[in-house]
Amino acid sequence: MSRNILVTGGGTGIGRAVAEHFAAQGDAVVITGRRFGPLKEGAAQSDNVRAVRCDHTDPDALHRLLTELPERIDVLINNAGGNTDFDSEPGTEVDLASYARAFRANLDANLISAALTTKALESRLSAGGAVVQIGSIAADQASGSYGAAKAGLANWNLNVAAELGPRGITANVVAPGYIADTEFFRSYLSAERRGRLVDSTATGRAGVPADIVGAVAFLVSSAARHITGQVLNVNGGARTTR
Ligand code: NDP
Repeated sequence: MSRNILVTGGGTGIGRAVAEHFAAQGDAVVITGRRFGPLKEGAAQSDNVRAVRCDHTDPDALHRLLTELPERIDVLINNAGGNTDFDSEPGTEVDLASYARAFRANLDANLISAALTTKALESRLSAGGAVVQIGSIAADQASGSYGAAKAGLANWNLNVAAELGPRGITANVVAPGYIADTEFFRSYLSAERRGRLVDSTATGRAGVPADIVGAVAFLVSSAARHITGQVLNVNGGARTTR
């Protein structure tokens, strides 16, 4: 059966790959983002992909998004986000106002965005559906406000799982390690840092968006209906759990 799927931040990187996967399976996919260019490119890949501009940190934009979405959403992928520290100037002196702005930007981009989107869509999520949050390995490392936001996302996901569980809806986090071929690092990934990230894996390679697609596809499949409130780490062994 064709499902209605929303992939936030689906114009580039991981979100684009996730959207293309479901579209190729015949699902009806809506991708969102703030920039028109990547959305247009993403929608051009398949007749099953539709693009709607939306800033997921903005409640008014989410109200507008609701008017563009189908009444029934089967799968919600809260993927929009990234480390907003790449966009802010490092302060040279203690300027608490700019520190607060920069800290809040990461909370907005990675935590509030997912919370607002899930709240907005709560009543439209279909019984037996699924929510997936794209978290990060940074949630378990010293990674400043970005790591704190992704850790908050994993914690808040527990609430989503508890609230939606009685309707047969699962809620899980996929936490990627370093994933190449996305816009995440912009121009800020030196060859040395990239080398260290790859060296930290057991697999000896960078992750790619397809690695995340596999995990997301499993969690929203019929095989995973009793898996909820979990974090699935996809990091090549860069961080291990028992
Ligand atoms: P990208 O930068 O390629 O993708 C992020 C997407 O999110 C962009 O399409 C961007 O589009 C969109 N986006 C960001 N903020 C907003 C917003 N406020 N409203 C709507 N859309 C937004 O990087 P990735 O594909 O790598 O990132 C996807 C997710 O994976 C992120 O949550 C990231 O934190 C996470 N992640 C990535 C890792 C990596 O190594 N690549 C590692 C761990 C986690 P636009 O700017 O047009 O809005």
